[in-house]
Amino acid sequence: MNLELSAEQTAVRQLARDFVVREVAPHAAAWDRAEQVDRGIVKTLGDLGFLGLTVPEEYGGSGGDHLSYVLVTEELGRGDSSVRGIVSVSLGLVAKTIAAWGDEHQKRQWLPRLTSGEAVGCFGLTEPGTGSDAAHLATRAVREGDTYVINGAKTFITNGTWADVVLLFARTGDAPGHRGISAFLVPADTPGLERREIHGKLGLRGQATAELVLDGVRVPAGAMLGPEGKGFSVAMSALAKGRMSVAAGCVGIARAALDAALGYAGQRAQFGKPIAGHQLVQELISDIAVDVEAARLLTWRVADLIDRGEPFTTAASQAKLFASEAAVRAANNALQVFGGYGYIDEYPVGKLLRDARVMTLYEGTSQIQKLVIGRALTGVSAF
Ligand SMILES: Cc1cc2nc3c(=O)[nH]c(=O)nc-3n(C[C@H](O)[C@H](O)[C@H](O)COP(=O)(O)OP(=O)(O)OC[C@H]3O[C@@H](n4cnc5c(N)ncnc54)[C@H](O)[C@@H]3O)c2cc1C
Repeated sequence: MNLELSAEQTAVRQLARDFVVREVAPHAAAWDRAEQVDRGIVKTLGDLGFLGLTVPEEYGGSGGDHLSYVLVTEELGRGDSSVRGIVSVSLGLVAKTIAAWGDEHQKRQWLPRLTSGEAVGCFGLTEPGTGSDAAHLATRAVREGDTYVINGAKTFITNGTWADVVLLFARTGDAPGHRGISAFLVPADTPGLERREIHGKLGLRGQATAELVLDGVRVPAGAMLGPEGKGFSVAMSALAKGRMSVAAGCVGIARAALDAALGYAGQRAQFGKPIAGHQLVQELISDIAVDVEAARLLTWRVADLIDRGEPFTTAASQAKLFASEAAVRAANNALQVFGGYGYIDEYPVGKLLRDARVMTLYEGTSQIQKLVIGRALTGVSAF
Protein backbone atom coordinates (compact mmCIF):
# COMPACT_ATOMS: atom_id res chain seq x y z
CA MET A 1 0.00 0.00 0.00
CA ASN A 2 1.42 3.34 -1.07
CA LEU A 3 0.89 5.89 1.73
CA GLU A 4 1.84 8.87 -0.41
CA LEU A 5 -1.21 10.83 -1.53
CA SER A 6 -1.61 11.85 -5.17
CA ALA A 7 -1.97 15.52 -6.15
CA GLU A 8 -5.74 15.01 -6.57
CA GLN A 9 -6.09 13.37 -3.15
CA THR A 10 -4.10 16.14 -1.49
CA ALA A 11 -6.24 18.76 -3.24
CA VAL A 12 -9.58 17.23 -2.23
CA ARG A 13 -8.38 16.88 1.37
CA GLN A 14 -7.36 20.55 1.39
CA LEU A 15 -10.72 21.53 -0.07
CA ALA A 16 -12.47 19.66 2.76
CA ARG A 17 -10.10 21.10 5.37
CA ASP A 18 -10.74 24.68 4.21
CA PHE A 19 -14.50 24.09 4.08
CA VAL A 20 -14.51 22.72 7.64
CA VAL A 21 -12.47 25.64 9.00
CA ARG A 22 -14.67 28.18 7.23
CA GLU A 23 -18.18 26.72 7.35
CA VAL A 24 -18.41 23.90 9.87
CA ALA A 25 -16.16 24.30 12.91
CA PRO A 26 -17.33 27.85 13.78
CA HIS A 27 -20.96 26.66 14.00
CA ALA A 28 -20.62 23.14 15.42
CA ALA A 29 -21.23 24.08 19.07
CA ALA A 30 -24.27 26.23 18.20
CA TRP A 31 -25.76 23.49 16.00
CA ASP A 32 -25.24 21.03 18.83
CA ARG A 33 -27.10 23.28 21.29
CA ALA A 34 -29.88 24.01 18.79
CA GLU A 35 -30.16 20.28 17.94
CA GLN A 36 -30.07 21.17 14.25
CA VAL A 37 -27.32 21.59 11.68
CA ASP A 38 -28.05 24.42 9.22
CA ARG A 39 -29.84 22.63 6.40
CA GLY A 40 -28.12 24.86 3.81
CA ILE A 41 -24.95 22.85 4.44
CA VAL A 42 -26.33 20.00 2.30
CA LYS A 43 -26.35 22.15 -0.85
CA THR A 44 -22.81 23.36 -0.12
CA LEU A 45 -21.62 19.77 0.39
CA GLY A 46 -23.16 18.94 -2.98
CA ASP A 47 -21.60 21.97 -4.71
CA LEU A 48 -18.17 20.94 -3.42
CA GLY A 49 -18.63 17.43 -4.86
CA PHE A 50 -18.51 15.78 -1.41
CA LEU A 51 -21.91 14.11 -1.89
CA GLY A 52 -20.82 12.52 -5.15
CA LEU A 53 -17.40 11.07 -4.31
CA THR A 54 -16.87 7.66 -5.97
CA VAL A 55 -20.23 7.94 -7.81
CA PRO A 56 -19.68 7.88 -11.61
CA GLU A 57 -19.76 11.28 -13.28
CA GLU A 58 -22.43 10.16 -15.76
CA TYR A 59 -24.88 10.07 -12.82
CA GLY A 60 -23.85 13.47 -11.46
CA GLY A 61 -21.14 12.14 -9.14
CA SER A 62 -17.68 13.61 -8.78
CA GLY A 63 -15.92 10.27 -9.30
CA GLY A 64 -12.73 9.79 -7.35
CA ASP A 65 -11.43 6.86 -5.34
CA HIS A 66 -12.33 5.57 -1.90
CA LEU A 67 -9.19 6.99 -0.32
CA SER A 68 -10.36 10.47 -1.39
CA TYR A 69 -13.73 9.71 0.17
CA VAL A 70 -12.02 8.67 3.41
CA LEU A 71 -9.84 11.80 3.43
CA VAL A 72 -12.91 14.05 3.08
CA THR A 73 -14.83 12.06 5.70
CA GLU A 74 -12.01 12.41 8.22
CA GLU A 75 -11.96 16.20 7.73
CA LEU A 76 -15.75 16.45 8.12
CA GLY A 77 -15.58 14.28 11.25
CA ARG A 78 -12.95 16.58 12.65
CA GLY A 79 -15.29 19.54 12.20
CA ASP A 80 -18.63 18.08 13.25
CA SER A 81 -19.77 14.46 13.37
CA SER A 82 -23.34 15.55 12.64
CA VAL A 83 -22.25 16.98 9.28
CA ARG A 84 -20.05 13.96 8.60
CA GLY A 85 -23.03 11.71 9.27
CA ILE A 86 -25.18 13.44 6.65
CA VAL A 87 -22.58 12.54 4.01
CA SER A 88 -21.88 9.05 5.34
CA VAL A 89 -25.57 8.19 5.11
CA SER A 90 -26.84 10.11 2.08
CA LEU A 91 -23.81 9.29 -0.06
CA GLY A 92 -22.18 6.36 1.72
CA LEU A 93 -25.19 4.22 2.54
CA VAL A 94 -27.76 5.38 -0.01
CA ALA A 95 -26.26 6.87 -3.22
CA LYS A 96 -23.35 4.42 -3.41
CA THR A 97 -25.79 1.53 -2.88
CA ILE A 98 -28.04 2.78 -5.67
CA ALA A 99 -24.95 3.10 -7.88
CA ALA A 100 -23.98 -0.50 -7.05
CA TRP A 101 -27.41 -2.21 -7.15
CA GLY A 102 -29.76 0.11 -9.04
CA ASP A 103 -31.14 -0.31 -12.55
CA GLU A 104 -30.68 2.48 -15.08
CA HIS A 105 -34.01 4.13 -14.20
CA GLN A 106 -33.27 4.14 -10.45
CA LYS A 107 -29.80 5.58 -11.01
CA ARG A 108 -31.14 8.35 -13.25
CA GLN A 109 -34.04 9.03 -10.89
CA TRP A 110 -32.03 9.46 -7.68
CA LEU A 111 -28.27 9.83 -8.17
CA PRO A 112 -28.10 13.31 -9.76
CA ARG A 113 -30.34 14.68 -7.00
CA LEU A 114 -28.50 12.94 -4.16
CA THR A 115 -25.03 13.86 -5.37
CA SER A 116 -25.94 17.53 -5.95
CA GLY A 117 -27.49 17.89 -2.49
CA GLU A 118 -30.90 18.65 -3.98
CA ALA A 119 -32.14 15.48 -2.26
CA VAL A 120 -31.11 13.67 0.93
CA GLY A 121 -31.20 9.91 1.49
CA CYS A 122 -31.71 7.84 4.63
CA PHE A 123 -31.15 4.15 5.39
CA GLY A 124 -34.06 2.34 7.03
CA LEU A 125 -32.89 -0.97 8.48
CA THR A 126 -33.21 -0.82 12.28
CA GLU A 127 -36.60 -1.48 13.86
CA PRO A 128 -37.81 -1.13 17.44
CA GLY A 129 -37.52 -4.91 17.91
CA THR A 130 -34.44 -5.61 15.76
CA GLY A 131 -31.13 -3.75 15.93
CA SER A 132 -28.11 -6.08 15.86
CA ASP A 133 -30.37 -8.90 14.71
CA ALA A 134 -31.44 -7.06 11.55
CA ALA A 135 -32.06 -10.31 9.64
CA HIS A 136 -35.23 -10.79 11.69
CA LEU A 137 -36.81 -7.42 10.89
CA ALA A 138 -40.61 -7.41 10.78
CA THR A 139 -41.60 -4.65 8.32
CA ARG A 140 -43.52 -6.34 5.53
CA ALA A 141 -44.04 -5.47 1.84
CA VAL A 142 -46.90 -7.34 0.15
CA ARG A 143 -47.21 -7.49 -3.63
CA GLU A 144 -50.51 -6.18 -5.06
CA GLY A 145 -50.47 -6.16 -8.87
CA ASP A 146 -47.71 -3.81 -10.02
CA THR A 147 -47.19 -2.39 -6.54
CA TYR A 148 -45.97 -3.30 -3.07
CA VAL A 149 -47.82 -2.20 0.06
CA ILE A 150 -45.50 -1.72 3.03
CA ASN A 151 -46.41 -1.78 6.73
CA GLY A 152 -44.08 -1.56 9.70
CA ALA A 153 -41.81 0.76 11.67
CA LYS A 154 -38.17 1.84 11.66
CA THR A 155 -36.25 3.64 14.36
CA PHE A 156 -33.01 5.62 14.88
CA ILE A 157 -32.96 6.64 11.20
CA THR A 158 -30.24 9.22 10.51
CA ASN A 159 -31.41 12.01 8.15
CA GLY A 160 -34.91 10.57 8.70
CA THR A 161 -36.87 13.83 8.80
CA TRP A 162 -34.67 15.48 6.14
CA ALA A 163 -34.72 12.67 3.63
CA ASP A 164 -36.36 12.68 0.22
CA VAL A 165 -35.80 8.97 -0.30
CA VAL A 166 -35.67 6.08 2.15
CA LEU A 167 -33.60 3.01 1.30
CA LEU A 168 -35.97 0.69 3.14
CA PHE A 169 -35.65 -2.97 4.04
CA ALA A 170 -38.79 -5.10 4.31
CA ARG A 171 -39.83 -8.72 4.32
CA THR A 172 -41.32 -9.78 0.97
CA GLY A 173 -41.60 -13.51 1.40
CA ASP A 174 -42.05 -16.21 3.98
CA ALA A 175 -38.43 -17.33 3.77
CA PRO A 176 -36.96 -17.06 7.29
CA GLY A 177 -34.28 -14.59 8.38
CA HIS A 178 -32.23 -12.74 5.83
CA ARG A 179 -33.57 -14.73 2.85
CA GLY A 180 -37.01 -13.08 3.01
CA ILE A 181 -35.80 -9.47 2.89
CA SER A 182 -35.92 -7.09 -0.09
CA ALA A 183 -34.75 -3.47 -0.48
CA PHE A 184 -36.92 -0.60 -1.73
CA LEU A 185 -36.40 3.03 -2.69
CA VAL A 186 -39.35 4.79 -1.09
CA PRO A 187 -39.94 8.51 -1.80
CA ALA A 188 -40.33 10.12 1.63
CA ASP A 189 -43.52 11.95 0.61
CA THR A 190 -45.37 8.70 -0.18
CA PRO A 191 -48.77 8.70 1.61
CA GLY A 192 -48.77 6.54 4.73
CA LEU A 193 -45.12 7.27 5.63
CA GLU A 194 -44.93 9.25 8.85
CA ARG A 195 -41.68 10.56 10.30
CA ARG A 196 -41.13 11.54 13.92
CA GLU A 197 -37.98 13.28 15.11
CA ILE A 198 -36.17 11.60 18.02
CA HIS A 199 -34.97 14.16 20.58
CA GLY A 200 -32.70 13.85 23.60
CA LYS A 201 -29.69 12.12 22.01
CA LEU A 202 -26.47 12.12 24.05
CA GLY A 203 -24.48 13.27 21.01
CA LEU A 204 -24.88 13.91 17.28
CA ARG A 205 -27.47 16.41 18.38
CA GLY A 206 -27.22 18.46 15.19
CA GLN A 207 -28.27 15.46 13.14
CA ALA A 208 -31.89 14.67 12.31
CA THR A 209 -32.67 11.20 13.70
CA ALA A 210 -36.17 9.81 13.25
CA GLU A 211 -38.66 7.09 13.76
CA LEU A 212 -40.52 6.05 10.58
CA VAL A 213 -44.01 4.59 10.68
CA LEU A 214 -45.24 2.90 7.50
CA ASP A 215 -48.98 2.41 7.28
CA GLY A 216 -50.11 1.11 3.90
CA VAL A 217 -47.23 2.76 1.99
CA ARG A 218 -47.73 1.86 -1.69
CA VAL A 219 -44.76 1.90 -4.08
CA PRO A 220 -44.47 0.66 -7.68
CA ALA A 221 -42.83 -2.76 -8.10
CA GLY A 222 -40.00 -0.90 -9.87
CA ALA A 223 -39.02 0.67 -6.52
CA MET A 224 -37.37 -2.59 -5.48
CA LEU A 225 -33.57 -2.18 -5.37
CA GLY A 226 -31.75 -5.32 -6.41
CA PRO A 227 -33.40 -8.72 -6.79
CA GLU A 228 -36.28 -9.89 -4.61
CA GLY A 229 -34.99 -11.67 -1.49
CA LYS A 230 -31.53 -10.06 -1.79
CA GLY A 231 -32.28 -7.08 0.45
CA PHE A 232 -30.05 -8.32 3.26
CA SER A 233 -27.10 -8.55 0.85
CA VAL A 234 -27.89 -4.99 -0.28
CA ALA A 235 -27.88 -3.84 3.37
CA MET A 236 -24.68 -5.67 4.30
CA SER A 237 -22.82 -4.41 1.22
CA ALA A 238 -23.84 -0.85 2.14
CA LEU A 239 -22.79 -1.29 5.77
CA ALA A 240 -19.40 -2.81 4.92
CA LYS A 241 -18.41 0.39 3.11
CA GLY A 242 -20.35 2.42 5.67
CA ARG A 243 -18.12 1.07 8.45
CA MET A 244 -15.09 2.49 6.66
CA SER A 245 -16.83 5.85 6.57
CA VAL A 246 -17.65 5.73 10.30
CA ALA A 247 -14.02 4.77 10.98
CA ALA A 248 -12.79 7.78 8.99
CA GLY A 249 -15.15 10.05 10.93
CA CYS A 250 -13.72 8.61 14.15
CA VAL A 251 -10.18 9.46 13.03
CA GLY A 252 -11.47 13.01 12.60
CA ILE A 253 -12.88 13.04 16.15
CA ALA A 254 -9.60 11.72 17.57
CA ARG A 255 -7.67 14.37 15.64
CA ALA A 256 -9.93 17.11 16.98
CA ALA A 257 -9.32 15.71 20.48
CA LEU A 258 -5.56 15.81 19.90
CA ASP A 259 -5.63 19.40 18.63
CA ALA A 260 -7.77 20.52 21.56
CA ALA A 261 -5.62 18.71 24.13
CA LEU A 262 -2.39 20.10 22.68
CA GLY A 263 -3.73 23.65 22.57
CA TYR A 264 -4.99 23.55 26.13
CA ALA A 265 -1.95 21.78 27.60
CA GLY A 266 0.32 24.46 26.14
CA GLN A 267 -1.50 27.37 27.71
CA ARG A 268 -2.79 26.01 31.04
CA ALA A 269 -0.23 26.29 33.83
CA GLN A 270 -0.20 24.37 37.13
CA PHE A 271 2.64 23.91 39.62
CA GLY A 272 4.47 26.77 37.95
CA LYS A 273 4.66 25.41 34.41
CA PRO A 274 2.40 24.55 31.47
CA ILE A 275 0.62 21.25 32.13
CA ALA A 276 2.16 20.08 28.80
CA GLY A 277 5.38 19.78 30.79
CA HIS A 278 3.90 17.21 33.22
CA GLN A 279 4.80 13.70 32.16
CA LEU A 280 1.39 12.19 32.89
CA VAL A 281 -0.28 14.83 30.72
CA GLN A 282 2.16 13.95 27.96
CA GLU A 283 1.10 10.33 28.39
CA LEU A 284 -2.55 11.30 27.78
CA ILE A 285 -1.57 13.26 24.69
CA SER A 286 0.72 10.61 23.27
CA ASP A 287 -1.98 7.96 23.74
CA ILE A 288 -4.36 10.11 21.67
CA ALA A 289 -1.73 10.61 18.96
CA VAL A 290 -1.06 6.86 18.65
CA ASP A 291 -4.81 6.18 18.43
CA VAL A 292 -5.13 8.75 15.60
CA GLU A 293 -2.34 7.19 13.55
CA ALA A 294 -3.37 3.56 14.13
CA ALA A 295 -7.05 4.24 13.37
CA ARG A 296 -6.14 6.15 10.22
CA LEU A 297 -3.90 3.37 8.88
CA LEU A 298 -6.60 0.74 9.43
CA THR A 299 -9.12 2.99 7.65
CA TRP A 300 -6.87 3.77 4.70
CA ARG A 301 -6.24 0.05 4.35
CA VAL A 302 -9.96 -0.53 3.75
CA ALA A 303 -10.08 2.21 1.09
CA ASP A 304 -7.01 0.76 -0.56
CA LEU A 305 -8.52 -2.74 -0.65
CA ILE A 306 -11.76 -1.40 -2.19
CA ASP A 307 -9.89 0.65 -4.78
CA ARG A 308 -7.87 -2.42 -5.77
CA GLY A 309 -10.99 -4.60 -5.97
CA GLU A 310 -9.91 -6.83 -3.08
CA PRO A 311 -12.18 -8.28 -0.34
CA PHE A 312 -12.54 -5.68 2.42
CA THR A 313 -15.42 -6.67 4.73
CA THR A 314 -13.30 -7.98 7.61
CA ALA A 315 -10.86 -5.09 7.27
CA ALA A 316 -13.81 -2.66 7.44
CA SER A 317 -15.03 -4.26 10.68
CA GLN A 318 -11.50 -4.13 12.11
CA ALA A 319 -11.17 -0.44 11.21
CA LYS A 320 -14.63 0.44 12.55
CA LEU A 321 -14.06 -1.48 15.79
CA PHE A 322 -10.67 0.04 16.48
CA ALA A 323 -11.39 3.59 15.30
CA SER A 324 -14.68 3.92 17.17
CA GLU A 325 -13.20 2.69 20.45
CA ALA A 326 -10.15 4.88 19.80
CA ALA A 327 -12.33 7.97 19.25
CA VAL A 328 -14.04 7.42 22.60
CA ARG A 329 -10.65 6.92 24.31
CA ALA A 330 -9.17 9.96 22.60
CA ALA A 331 -12.05 12.27 23.47
CA ASN A 332 -12.03 10.98 27.06
CA ASN A 333 -8.26 11.52 27.35
CA ALA A 334 -8.64 15.04 25.93
CA LEU A 335 -11.34 15.77 28.49
CA GLN A 336 -8.91 14.64 31.21
CA VAL A 337 -6.30 17.09 29.90
CA PHE A 338 -8.86 19.89 30.21
CA GLY A 339 -9.56 18.99 33.84
CA GLY A 340 -12.80 20.49 35.18
CA TYR A 341 -13.07 22.83 32.19
CA GLY A 342 -13.49 19.80 29.95
CA TYR A 343 -16.75 19.10 31.69
CA ILE A 344 -18.19 22.48 30.69
CA ASP A 345 -20.03 22.97 27.41
CA GLU A 346 -18.01 26.10 26.57
CA TYR A 347 -15.03 23.87 25.73
CA PRO A 348 -15.09 21.50 22.75
CA VAL A 349 -14.04 18.18 24.27
CA GLY A 350 -17.34 17.29 25.95
CA LYS A 351 -19.11 17.37 22.58
CA LEU A 352 -16.35 15.23 21.05
CA LEU A 353 -16.90 12.58 23.73
CA ARG A 354 -20.70 12.69 23.34
CA ASP A 355 -20.44 12.46 19.54
CA ALA A 356 -17.85 9.68 19.71
CA ARG A 357 -19.94 7.51 22.00
CA VAL A 358 -22.45 6.45 19.34
CA MET A 359 -19.71 5.27 16.98
CA THR A 360 -19.29 2.04 18.96
CA LEU A 361 -23.04 1.45 18.67
CA TYR A 362 -24.29 2.18 15.18
CA GLU A 363 -23.57 0.41 11.90
CA GLY A 364 -22.94 -2.65 14.05
CA THR A 365 -21.90 -2.43 17.71
CA SER A 366 -18.34 -3.25 18.80
CA GLN A 367 -19.60 -6.67 19.89
CA ILE A 368 -21.05 -7.32 16.42
CA GLN A 369 -17.79 -6.24 14.75
CA LYS A 370 -15.92 -8.76 16.93
CA LEU A 371 -18.32 -11.49 15.84
CA VAL A 372 -17.85 -10.56 12.16
CA ILE A 373 -14.07 -10.63 12.57
CA GLY A 374 -14.22 -13.84 14.62
CA ARG A 375 -16.38 -15.53 11.97
CA ALA A 376 -13.88 -14.60 9.25
CA LEU A 377 -10.96 -15.93 11.29
CA THR A 378 -12.51 -19.16 12.57
CA GLY A 379 -14.95 -19.96 9.79
CA VAL A 380 -17.64 -20.44 12.47
CA SER A 381 -20.62 -18.08 12.68
CA ALA A 382 -21.77 -17.05 16.15
CA PHE A 383 -24.95 -15.47 14.76
C1 LIG B 1 -27.79 8.12 16.66
C2 LIG B 1 -28.12 6.83 15.95
C3 LIG B 1 -28.22 6.82 14.57
C4 LIG B 1 -28.56 5.64 13.90
N1 LIG B 1 -28.73 5.66 12.55
C5 LIG B 1 -29.26 4.56 11.93
C6 LIG B 1 -29.65 4.61 10.54
O1 LIG B 1 -29.46 5.63 9.87
N2 LIG B 1 -30.24 3.52 10.01
C7 LIG B 1 -30.46 2.37 10.71
O2 LIG B 1 -31.02 1.42 10.16
N3 LIG B 1 -30.08 2.28 12.02
C8 LIG B 1 -29.51 3.35 12.64
N4 LIG B 1 -29.14 3.29 13.98
C9 LIG B 1 -29.39 2.06 14.72
C10 LIG B 1 -28.13 1.31 15.12
O3 LIG B 1 -27.53 0.74 13.99
C11 LIG B 1 -28.52 0.30 16.20
O4 LIG B 1 -28.80 1.04 17.38
C12 LIG B 1 -27.45 -0.74 16.42
O5 LIG B 1 -27.36 -1.61 15.32
C13 LIG B 1 -27.69 -1.58 17.69
O6 LIG B 1 -29.00 -2.06 17.73
P1 LIG B 1 -29.87 -1.84 19.07
O7 LIG B 1 -29.77 -0.43 19.46
O8 LIG B 1 -31.22 -2.40 18.83
O9 LIG B 1 -29.12 -2.68 20.18
P2 LIG B 1 -29.25 -4.28 20.44
O10 LIG B 1 -29.07 -5.02 19.17
O11 LIG B 1 -30.48 -4.52 21.23
O12 LIG B 1 -27.97 -4.54 21.34
C14 LIG B 1 -27.94 -4.24 22.75
C15 LIG B 1 -26.61 -4.75 23.29
O13 LIG B 1 -26.51 -6.18 23.11
C16 LIG B 1 -25.33 -6.49 22.39
N5 LIG B 1 -25.59 -7.64 21.53
C17 LIG B 1 -26.62 -7.85 20.67
N6 LIG B 1 -26.50 -9.02 20.03
C18 LIG B 1 -25.35 -9.59 20.49
C19 LIG B 1 -24.65 -10.79 20.21
N7 LIG B 1 -25.10 -11.68 19.30
N8 LIG B 1 -23.50 -11.04 20.87
C20 LIG B 1 -23.01 -10.15 21.76
N9 LIG B 1 -23.61 -8.97 22.07
C21 LIG B 1 -24.77 -8.70 21.43
C22 LIG B 1 -25.01 -5.24 21.57
O14 LIG B 1 -23.64 -5.20 21.20
C23 LIG B 1 -25.39 -4.15 22.56
O15 LIG B 1 -24.34 -3.96 23.47
C24 LIG B 1 -28.75 4.45 14.65
C25 LIG B 1 -28.59 4.46 16.05
C26 LIG B 1 -28.29 5.61 16.70
C27 LIG B 1 -28.16 5.61 18.20
